[in-house]
Amino acid sequence: MTIEAFVMRNLCSGCGVCLNSCPFGAFMKVDETIQVLGVLCRSCEACLECCQAGAIAFKPK
Ligand code: SF4
Ligand code: SF4
Repeated sequence: MTIEAFVMRNLCSGCGVCLNSCPFGAFMKVDETIQVLGVLCRSCEACLECCQAGAIAFKPK
């Protein structure tokens, strides 16, 4: 099963650390919220450990 990352808004502090964690540039700031552009996510899981708030999760693509 292919997965893609997403940000759980209720846990995200907006710190922005994840913006530089993705080798494919899938994280972006949109209207003051941090989001994953699913089409760019290649399921590498490199972002998983970067979030101190535990706000990054995965769902089926
Ligand atoms: S690292 Fe975590 S808390 Fe910080 S902006 Fe990204 S998802 Fe939100
Ligand atoms: S799983 Fe990999 S490609 Fe997808 S957002 Fe995280 S770091 Fe980027």
